[in-house]
Parts: sequence; structure tokens; C-alpha cells
Amino acid sequence: MKNSPNSVKRPNNFRHKLRKLLAELTWSAPLPFLRPLKPTDSSVLMYHRVVQPRDVPWEMEPGMYVTPESFRLQLELLTANYKVISLQDYIEQTLIGDLEVGSIALTFDDGWIDFKQHAAPILKEFNLTATVFLPTAFIGSEELFWTDILSLAVHHCPDKIVEIFSEYKIFTPSGGSNPDSLLSRKNMTLERAIFALRAASPINRDKIVTELKGQLPKVPKQFLNWEEINQLATEGFTFGSHSNLHRASTEVEASDLSQDLQDSKNTLSKNLNSGKLDVFCYPGGYYDRSTQEIVNSSGFDATMAIHRNNELELSPPMIGRIGIHEDISYTKKLFNFRLKF
Ligand SMILES: [Zn+2]
Repeated sequence: MKNSPNSVKRPNNFRHKLRKLLAELTWSAPLPFLRPLKPTDSSVLMYHRVVQPRDVPWEMEPGMYVTPESFRLQLELLTANYKVISLQDYIEQTLIGDLEVGSIALTFDDGWIDFKQHAAPILKEFNLTATVFLPTAFIGSEELFWTDILSLAVHHCPDKIVEIFSEYKIFTPSGGSNPDSLLSRKNMTLERAIFALRAASPINRDKIVTELKGQLPKVPKQFLNWEEINQLATEGFTFGSHSNLHRASTEVEASDLSQDLQDSKNTLSKNLNSGKLDVFCYPGGYYDRSTQEIVNSSGFDATMAIHRNNELELSPPMIGRIGIHEDISYTKKLFNFRLKF
């Protein structure tokens, strides 16, 4: 059966059609004239959730997941064509200039419960390991990221969003020549709501999210707890830091950022019995020169980027990653194209 029908909506725009065409061409003829553009022969892959969208109580952002079916076919392609190694080996070999061409390491951001439910069992079938980056304050808690609270609110209480956004004068930066406008019930999409709230001050955002939270139904726990993590560690998975509070480093005061990093390190040391990696992964991939300096002086062996290139001249080095998500990798051809370009 080919790409069994499921509840996942596929994109149908021009961009996606072009991507599919290029993926097809790359698959059947390796497009040698394109290869010099951006060849990727080795990389670290960045995943978030491995889950069916229907099993998550809110609308996920497209970049947040792959389905278990897609994940399985991706691992089929990887194990047939690449050498999948642990993140520790990948970093060590990269640093001594001895990384074999075609090496791949797998990473998962955020510590979602579905890592244990779906990702780990499939990885074990293929005899592969992976590293999970944990935002330590969320581990074992019933808290949610603000983006997910907003997504729940778009579904459950859109009127409340309109009311609070206008109270706090949260505009949707519309770009182009259009004036910014308040989010209305009619023009509300999750994307617009997130865009608007991301542009708000962190203080207002916290207040708004707390107010919205009060309006929402309770949802099942979404993050792993320490017991589950320690079990996964005995099965060979490893864990790094994704900060404590999962805030964009560029939005946090310098002293708060140092404290947050220390809290994350202490919590990992205290709770993890094994499998700890001193590697830091920037929440949302946000950093600038000054936050990078703070992170770099916090005693990590490496940091993880959300762009493809390594920055080995940094100390500690920054390791590039390729983000993998359902929209652009639900067939082997699309996944192959994503890896290469
Ligand atoms: Zn994250």
C-alpha cells in the first residue's frame, strides 16, 4: 500500500508541487548540476514530535511533527543509504575532522511524550539511538508551551483571544503596504495569532497566556517525566539541555539567562541517572552574539543550531542541523530531497 490515507492534510500549493517535482528529479537522476549548490552528505537531523496530529489536543504548527509512518520510511531510507551514529560520536568525529561521509545523527527537541510512545520503539526496531533536548522546567509537568496554549485557545475560545489582544493592543504585523491590524475572529488563524503574540513584549505575552489558560480545558500530559527519561536512558538514548524555561535566549536578561542555563544543568544532573550529554540546544533556535557568549561560557561541550552549517571556529562549536517535518518529508523522495538540499 502506497502512502496509506490518513488524517494528515497534504499541502497543495505551487511551492509544494515544485518541491515534489524537484524531489522526483533528484530521485531518478541525481541532478549533478544542482549538487554543488548545497550538498549535504552528513548532518544532524532535528525532529520534534512523532505523532498523528489527531492524537494531539490542539492544531500543531506544521514544523512540529512527523507521523510514525513517515518516521519509519525515513529510517528505512537512512539505514539503507547513510551511517546513522550517536550524536556524541558525530560531534567527536566532526571535531577531529574524521567524520565519515554520509554520517547522520538524530535529535529530538522538547521531550514530548510521543518520543517514548512512537519514536523510541521505531528507533529500537532499526537499532538506532537518538538524543533528546529537554526544557527541564516542563519535564514531568502539566505545563504547555505558550504557542500550544494559544493553539488550544484558537480552537476553544477565539472570542477571548480577540478580546484580550485588543485590550493589550496586540497587532498582527501584516507586512507589505497594509497597515497593522487587530486580530479579528474573521481573520484569525493560528499562524497569525502566534505571529502577533511573538511580537508582543514577553511580560504582556505571559499575562495574556495566563489569562487564556484559565479558559481552557485540561489536556493530558504532553512531556516526558524523569522516570520515563531514565528508562529511555537505560535503553541507550541520551539527553541534553534545551534550557530550563524554553524562552528565546534573545528575550531574556543576561543574568536570567545564566541562571536559566544553570537551573537546566542542575536539574539534568540531579534527575538523570545516566545518558547526560553536555550539549545545549537553543529554544526556537533564537540567539544573538551576546546570548551566544553567555551560553558559550556556561560549560557546554557543543551547541546545536537550526541551520545546516557547522560553526566549528566557535568555542564550544556549534553543530548544524536539518529540520525534518511532515509537510516536506512524508515520502522517501521528499525526504531525500530535504536531506540533500
Ligand atoms: Zn524547543
